[in-house]
Amino acid sequence: MYDIIVIGAGPAGLTAAIYASRAKKKVLVLEAESYGGQIINTLNIENYPAIAHISGYDFATNIYNQALDLGAEIKFEKVINIENNSIKKVITSNNSYETKTVIIATGCGIKKLNIDNEDKFIGKGVSYCATCDGAFYKKKNVAVVGGGNTALEDTLYLSNIVNIVYLIHRRDSFRGEEVYYSKLKKKDNVHFILNSNVTKLIGNELLEKIEVTDNNGKKSIISVSGLFVAIGRVPENANFAKLVDVDKSGYIISSENCNTKIDGIFVAGDCRVKKLRQLVTAASDGALAATEAIKYINSKKWYIR
Ligand code: NAP
Repeated sequence: MYDIIVIGAGPAGLTAAIYASRAKKKVLVLEAESYGGQIINTLNIENYPAIAHISGYDFATNIYNQALDLGAEIKFEKVINIENNSIKKVITSNNSYETKTVIIATGCGIKKLNIDNEDKFIGKGVSYCATCDGAFYKKKNVAVVGGGNTALEDTLYLSNIVNIVYLIHRRDSFRGEEVYYSKLKKKDNVHFILNSNVTKLIGNELLEKIEVTDNNGKKSIISVSGLFVAIGRVPENANFAKLVDVDKSGYIISSENCNTKIDGIFVAGDCRVKKLRQLVTAASDGALAATEAIKYINSKKWYIR
Protein backbone atom coordinates (compact mmCIF):
# COMPACT_ATOMS: atom_id res chain seq x y z
CA MET A 1 0.00 0.00 0.00
CA TYR A 2 1.18 3.51 -0.82
CA ASP A 3 1.04 6.48 1.54
CA ILE A 4 0.35 8.92 -1.28
CA ILE A 5 -0.68 8.39 -4.89
CA VAL A 6 -0.21 11.49 -7.00
CA ILE A 7 -2.22 11.59 -10.21
CA GLY A 8 -0.33 13.64 -12.79
CA ALA A 9 3.38 14.22 -13.38
CA GLY A 10 3.30 17.93 -14.18
CA PRO A 11 5.00 20.57 -12.00
CA ALA A 12 2.29 20.34 -9.29
CA GLY A 13 2.30 16.53 -9.09
CA LEU A 14 6.07 16.18 -9.20
CA THR A 15 6.55 18.89 -6.57
CA ALA A 16 4.09 16.99 -4.35
CA ALA A 17 6.13 13.82 -4.97
CA ILE A 18 9.35 15.62 -3.99
CA TYR A 19 7.88 16.92 -0.73
CA ALA A 20 6.26 13.59 0.17
CA SER A 21 9.37 11.54 -0.69
CA ARG A 22 11.58 13.82 1.41
CA ALA A 23 9.16 13.16 4.29
CA LYS A 24 9.89 9.42 3.74
CA LYS A 25 6.40 8.59 2.55
CA LYS A 26 5.85 5.80 0.02
CA VAL A 27 4.82 7.68 -3.13
CA LEU A 28 3.51 6.57 -6.50
CA VAL A 29 2.99 9.07 -9.32
CA LEU A 30 0.64 7.94 -12.09
CA GLU A 31 0.78 9.81 -15.40
CA ALA A 32 -1.41 9.16 -18.44
CA GLU A 33 0.91 10.72 -21.04
CA SER A 34 4.43 12.10 -20.67
CA TYR A 35 5.90 13.85 -17.62
CA GLY A 36 6.02 17.64 -17.41
CA GLY A 37 2.44 18.60 -18.24
CA GLN A 38 1.91 21.79 -20.24
CA ILE A 39 5.30 23.26 -19.30
CA ILE A 40 7.17 20.72 -21.43
CA ASN A 41 5.92 22.56 -24.55
CA THR A 42 6.98 25.99 -23.30
CA LEU A 43 10.01 27.28 -25.11
CA ASN A 44 11.51 29.53 -22.52
CA ILE A 45 10.61 30.10 -18.86
CA GLU A 46 11.63 33.51 -17.55
CA ASN A 47 9.36 33.97 -14.56
CA TYR A 48 10.38 31.26 -12.12
CA PRO A 49 12.25 32.76 -9.14
CA ALA A 50 16.03 32.29 -9.18
CA ILE A 51 16.07 30.77 -12.67
CA ALA A 52 16.51 33.54 -15.25
CA HIS A 53 16.06 31.30 -18.31
CA ILE A 54 15.30 27.62 -18.73
CA SER A 55 13.47 25.63 -21.40
CA GLY A 56 10.21 23.95 -20.42
CA TYR A 57 11.72 20.60 -21.40
CA ASP A 58 14.74 21.05 -19.12
CA PHE A 59 12.60 22.30 -16.25
CA ALA A 60 10.22 19.33 -16.53
CA THR A 61 13.08 16.84 -16.86
CA ASN A 62 14.82 18.31 -13.82
CA ILE A 63 11.76 17.93 -11.55
CA TYR A 64 11.05 14.45 -12.94
CA ASN A 65 14.60 13.29 -12.14
CA GLN A 66 14.53 15.03 -8.76
CA ALA A 67 11.35 13.15 -7.77
CA LEU A 68 12.82 9.81 -8.94
CA ASP A 69 16.14 10.45 -7.15
CA LEU A 70 14.28 11.13 -3.90
CA GLY A 71 12.54 7.75 -4.15
CA ALA A 72 9.17 8.40 -5.78
CA GLU A 73 7.91 5.66 -8.08
CA ILE A 74 6.52 6.95 -11.39
CA LYS A 75 4.35 4.84 -13.70
CA PHE A 76 2.75 5.77 -17.01
CA GLU A 77 -0.84 4.58 -16.60
CA LYS A 78 -4.10 6.44 -17.05
CA VAL A 79 -6.22 6.70 -13.90
CA ILE A 80 -9.85 6.02 -14.64
CA ASN A 81 -11.37 6.00 -11.16
CA ILE A 82 -10.78 6.50 -7.45
CA GLU A 83 -12.74 4.37 -4.98
CA ASN A 84 -13.05 6.22 -1.73
CA ASN A 85 -12.85 4.35 1.58
CA SER A 86 -10.56 4.80 4.56
CA ILE A 87 -8.06 3.00 2.33
CA LYS A 88 -8.52 4.34 -1.19
CA LYS A 89 -8.24 2.39 -4.40
CA VAL A 90 -6.83 4.11 -7.49
CA ILE A 91 -7.84 2.26 -10.63
CA THR A 92 -5.91 2.60 -13.87
CA SER A 93 -6.54 1.08 -17.29
CA ASN A 94 -4.48 -1.99 -16.29
CA ASN A 95 -4.02 -2.02 -12.50
CA SER A 96 -5.43 -0.99 -9.19
CA TYR A 97 -3.42 0.43 -6.29
CA GLU A 98 -4.23 0.90 -2.60
CA THR A 99 -3.26 4.11 -0.89
CA LYS A 100 -3.90 6.13 2.26
CA THR A 101 -4.19 9.43 0.37
CA VAL A 102 -4.54 10.75 -3.16
CA ILE A 103 -3.36 14.03 -4.66
CA ILE A 104 -5.11 14.92 -7.92
CA ALA A 105 -2.77 17.01 -10.07
CA THR A 106 -4.10 16.26 -13.53
CA GLY A 107 -3.64 19.76 -14.95
CA CYS A 108 -5.40 20.96 -18.05
CA GLY A 109 -5.74 19.70 -21.62
CA ILE A 110 -6.31 21.41 -24.94
CA LYS A 111 -9.35 23.59 -25.55
CA LYS A 112 -10.85 23.27 -29.01
CA LEU A 113 -12.54 25.97 -31.07
CA ASN A 114 -15.45 23.58 -31.59
CA ILE A 115 -16.06 24.52 -35.21
CA ASP A 116 -16.85 22.24 -38.15
CA ASN A 117 -13.95 20.15 -39.51
CA GLU A 118 -11.66 20.93 -36.56
CA ASP A 119 -11.14 17.25 -35.75
CA LYS A 120 -10.75 16.35 -39.43
CA PHE A 121 -7.82 18.76 -39.81
CA ILE A 122 -5.97 17.90 -36.58
CA GLY A 123 -2.47 16.95 -37.73
CA LYS A 124 -3.39 18.14 -41.23
CA GLY A 125 -3.17 21.86 -40.54
CA VAL A 126 -4.78 22.30 -37.16
CA SER A 127 -2.42 22.17 -34.18
CA TYR A 128 -2.60 22.97 -30.46
CA CYS A 129 1.17 23.17 -29.95
CA ALA A 130 3.37 25.58 -31.89
CA THR A 131 6.62 24.32 -30.41
CA CYS A 132 5.71 20.74 -31.35
CA ASP A 133 4.47 21.38 -34.89
CA GLY A 134 5.81 24.79 -35.95
CA ALA A 135 8.74 23.30 -37.88
CA PHE A 136 6.32 21.63 -40.34
CA TYR A 137 5.29 25.09 -41.60
CA LYS A 138 8.67 26.51 -42.64
CA LYS A 139 8.19 29.47 -45.05
CA LYS A 140 4.39 28.88 -45.17
CA ASN A 141 1.56 31.15 -44.01
CA VAL A 142 -0.11 30.23 -40.72
CA ALA A 143 -2.58 31.70 -38.24
CA VAL A 144 -2.68 31.67 -34.46
CA VAL A 145 -5.95 32.17 -32.62
CA GLY A 146 -6.10 33.44 -29.03
CA GLY A 147 -5.14 36.44 -26.95
CA GLY A 148 -3.30 35.06 -23.92
CA ASN A 149 0.39 34.47 -23.27
CA THR A 150 0.33 31.18 -25.15
CA ALA A 151 -1.01 32.79 -28.34
CA LEU A 152 1.50 35.66 -28.12
CA GLU A 153 4.42 33.36 -27.36
CA ASP A 154 3.38 30.94 -30.14
CA THR A 155 3.11 33.82 -32.64
CA LEU A 156 6.58 35.03 -31.72
CA TYR A 157 8.01 31.53 -32.05
CA LEU A 158 6.30 30.90 -35.41
CA SER A 159 7.33 34.32 -36.81
CA ASN A 160 10.93 33.07 -36.82
CA ILE A 161 10.04 29.98 -38.86
CA VAL A 162 7.16 30.73 -41.21
CA ASN A 163 6.46 33.31 -43.91
CA ILE A 164 3.47 35.15 -42.39
CA VAL A 165 1.66 34.66 -39.06
CA TYR A 166 -1.86 36.06 -38.70
CA LEU A 167 -2.72 36.52 -35.04
CA ILE A 168 -6.48 36.38 -34.72
CA HIS A 169 -8.16 37.48 -31.49
CA ARG A 170 -11.79 38.08 -30.62
CA ARG A 171 -11.10 41.35 -28.74
CA ASP A 172 -9.18 44.54 -29.53
CA SER A 173 -6.61 43.99 -26.81
CA PHE A 174 -4.66 41.02 -25.49
CA ARG A 175 -4.74 39.51 -22.04
CA GLY A 176 -1.18 38.22 -22.60
CA GLU A 177 1.79 40.21 -21.27
CA GLU A 178 3.01 43.45 -22.84
CA VAL A 179 6.55 42.05 -23.07
CA TYR A 180 5.40 39.63 -25.81
CA TYR A 181 3.13 42.15 -27.56
CA SER A 182 5.89 44.76 -27.85
CA LYS A 183 8.19 42.18 -29.47
CA LEU A 184 5.42 41.15 -31.91
CA LYS A 185 4.74 44.74 -32.98
CA LYS A 186 8.31 44.93 -34.28
CA LYS A 187 7.88 41.88 -36.53
CA ASP A 188 7.13 42.62 -40.21
CA ASN A 189 5.64 39.17 -40.83
CA VAL A 190 3.07 39.29 -37.98
CA HIS A 191 -0.36 40.56 -39.00
CA PHE A 192 -2.92 41.30 -36.27
CA ILE A 193 -6.57 40.51 -37.00
CA LEU A 194 -8.52 41.77 -34.00
CA ASN A 195 -12.20 41.71 -33.01
CA SER A 196 -12.52 38.55 -35.08
CA ASN A 197 -13.10 34.81 -34.81
CA VAL A 198 -12.14 31.85 -36.97
CA THR A 199 -15.48 30.53 -38.19
CA LYS A 200 -14.69 27.98 -40.91
CA LEU A 201 -11.88 25.63 -41.88
CA ILE A 202 -11.57 25.00 -45.60
CA GLY A 203 -9.55 22.39 -47.49
CA ASN A 204 -9.63 18.92 -48.98
CA GLU A 205 -7.11 16.55 -47.38
CA LEU A 206 -5.13 19.39 -45.78
CA LEU A 207 -6.16 22.77 -44.38
CA GLU A 208 -5.91 25.40 -47.12
CA LYS A 209 -7.94 28.40 -45.96
CA ILE A 210 -9.80 29.77 -42.97
CA GLU A 211 -12.86 31.95 -42.83
CA VAL A 212 -12.57 34.81 -40.36
CA THR A 213 -15.63 36.73 -39.22
CA ASP A 214 -15.26 40.10 -37.51
CA ASN A 215 -17.47 41.25 -34.68
CA ASN A 216 -19.68 43.16 -37.18
CA GLY A 217 -20.30 39.95 -39.12
CA LYS A 218 -17.97 40.75 -42.05
CA LYS A 219 -16.38 37.58 -43.40
CA SER A 220 -13.00 37.17 -45.11
CA ILE A 221 -11.01 34.20 -46.37
CA ILE A 222 -7.30 33.84 -45.59
CA SER A 223 -5.00 31.24 -47.19
CA VAL A 224 -3.04 29.40 -44.50
CA SER A 225 -1.46 25.95 -44.26
CA GLY A 226 -1.59 25.89 -40.48
CA LEU A 227 -3.90 27.09 -37.73
CA PHE A 228 -2.51 27.07 -34.19
CA VAL A 229 -5.27 27.14 -31.61
CA ALA A 230 -4.14 28.79 -28.34
CA ILE A 231 -7.39 29.70 -26.61
CA GLY A 232 -6.65 28.39 -23.14
CA ARG A 233 -7.05 25.00 -21.54
CA VAL A 234 -9.72 22.84 -19.91
CA PRO A 235 -9.26 20.88 -16.67
CA GLU A 236 -8.80 17.14 -17.01
CA ASN A 237 -11.01 16.19 -14.08
CA ALA A 238 -13.87 14.36 -15.75
CA ASN A 239 -12.97 11.02 -14.11
CA PHE A 240 -13.13 12.53 -10.62
CA ALA A 241 -16.00 14.98 -11.02
CA LYS A 242 -18.48 12.68 -9.27
CA LEU A 243 -16.27 12.22 -6.22
CA VAL A 244 -15.15 15.77 -5.47
CA ASP A 245 -16.92 19.07 -6.05
CA VAL A 246 -16.15 20.87 -9.32
CA ASP A 247 -17.21 24.34 -10.51
CA LYS A 248 -19.19 24.92 -13.71
CA SER A 249 -16.02 24.80 -15.82
CA GLY A 250 -14.91 21.49 -14.28
CA TYR A 251 -12.16 22.81 -11.95
CA ILE A 252 -12.00 21.03 -8.56
CA ILE A 253 -13.14 23.12 -5.61
CA SER A 254 -10.74 23.03 -2.66
CA SER A 255 -9.62 24.90 0.42
CA GLU A 256 -6.65 27.22 0.13
CA ASN A 257 -4.55 24.33 1.47
CA CYS A 258 -5.64 22.05 -1.37
CA ASN A 259 -8.13 19.90 0.63
CA THR A 260 -11.12 18.62 -1.33
CA LYS A 261 -14.41 17.79 0.37
CA ILE A 262 -13.22 14.17 0.72
CA ASP A 263 -10.94 13.24 3.63
CA GLY A 264 -7.57 12.10 2.32
CA ILE A 265 -8.06 13.42 -1.23
CA PHE A 266 -6.20 16.59 -2.12
CA VAL A 267 -5.85 18.60 -5.33
CA ALA A 268 -2.92 20.60 -6.68
CA GLY A 269 -2.15 22.80 -9.68
CA ASP A 270 -4.06 24.02 -12.70
CA CYS A 271 -6.94 21.53 -12.34
CA ARG A 272 -8.28 23.26 -9.21
CA VAL A 273 -10.23 26.50 -8.84
CA LYS A 274 -7.67 29.28 -8.41
CA LYS A 275 -6.88 32.81 -9.54
CA LEU A 276 -3.46 32.31 -11.11
CA ARG A 277 -2.35 29.27 -13.10
CA GLN A 278 1.42 29.54 -13.40
CA LEU A 279 4.43 27.32 -12.85
CA VAL A 280 5.16 28.93 -9.53
CA THR A 281 1.60 28.46 -8.23
CA ALA A 282 1.54 24.84 -9.46
CA ALA A 283 4.74 24.11 -7.54
CA SER A 284 3.34 25.90 -4.50
CA ASP A 285 0.15 23.80 -4.65
CA GLY A 286 2.20 20.60 -4.91
CA ALA A 287 4.08 21.51 -1.73
CA LEU A 288 0.85 22.43 0.10
CA ALA A 289 -1.07 19.32 -0.97
CA ALA A 290 1.80 17.02 0.02
CA THR A 291 2.16 18.75 3.39
CA GLU A 292 -1.57 18.34 4.05
CA ALA A 293 -1.46 14.67 2.96
CA ILE A 294 1.51 13.99 5.26
CA LYS A 295 -0.32 15.68 8.16
CA TYR A 296 -3.42 13.57 7.44
CA ILE A 297 -1.43 10.30 7.32
CA ASN A 298 0.45 11.11 10.52
CA SER A 299 -2.82 11.85 12.32
CA LYS A 300 -4.27 8.38 11.61
CA LYS A 301 -3.61 5.00 13.19
CA TRP A 302 -3.60 2.69 10.15
CA TYR A 303 -4.49 -0.93 10.86
CA ILE A 304 -1.82 -3.53 10.08
CA ARG A 305 -2.77 -5.66 7.08
P1 NAP B 1 -5.59 32.18 -21.36
O1 NAP B 1 -4.74 33.12 -20.62
O2 NAP B 1 -6.80 31.60 -20.70
O3 NAP B 1 -6.06 32.93 -22.70
C1 NAP B 1 -6.94 32.32 -23.58
C2 NAP B 1 -7.23 33.30 -24.71
O4 NAP B 1 -8.04 32.66 -25.68
C3 NAP B 1 -7.97 34.53 -24.23
O5 NAP B 1 -7.47 35.66 -24.88
C4 NAP B 1 -9.41 34.25 -24.64
O6 NAP B 1 -10.11 35.40 -25.04
C5 NAP B 1 -9.23 33.40 -25.89
N1 NAP B 1 -10.33 32.46 -26.07
C6 NAP B 1 -10.86 31.61 -25.16
N2 NAP B 1 -11.84 30.85 -25.70
C7 NAP B 1 -11.92 31.25 -26.99
C8 NAP B 1 -12.73 30.85 -28.07
N3 NAP B 1 -13.64 29.87 -27.95
N4 NAP B 1 -12.57 31.45 -29.26
C9 NAP B 1 -11.63 32.44 -29.41
N5 NAP B 1 -10.83 32.86 -28.41
C10 NAP B 1 -10.97 32.27 -27.22
O7 NAP B 1 -4.78 30.90 -21.89
P2 NAP B 1 -3.23 30.71 -22.24
O8 NAP B 1 -2.75 31.81 -23.10
O9 NAP B 1 -3.09 29.32 -22.73
O10 NAP B 1 -2.51 30.83 -20.84
C11 NAP B 1 -2.87 29.95 -19.75
C12 NAP B 1 -2.03 30.31 -18.53
O11 NAP B 1 -0.66 29.97 -18.77
C13 NAP B 1 -2.05 31.80 -18.23
O12 NAP B 1 -2.02 31.98 -16.84
C14 NAP B 1 -0.78 32.29 -18.87
O13 NAP B 1 -0.28 33.49 -18.28
C15 NAP B 1 0.14 31.12 -18.62
N6 NAP B 1 1.23 31.12 -19.62
C16 NAP B 1 2.39 31.73 -19.25
C17 NAP B 1 3.45 31.76 -20.16
C18 NAP B 1 4.73 32.42 -19.74
O14 NAP B 1 4.74 33.06 -18.70
N7 NAP B 1 5.80 32.28 -20.51
C19 NAP B 1 3.32 31.21 -21.43
C20 NAP B 1 2.11 30.63 -21.79
C21 NAP B 1 1.07 30.60 -20.86
P3 NAP B 1 -10.59 36.52 -23.98
O15 NAP B 1 -9.38 37.31 -23.67
O16 NAP B 1 -11.63 37.22 -24.74
O17 NAP B 1 -11.14 35.74 -22.82
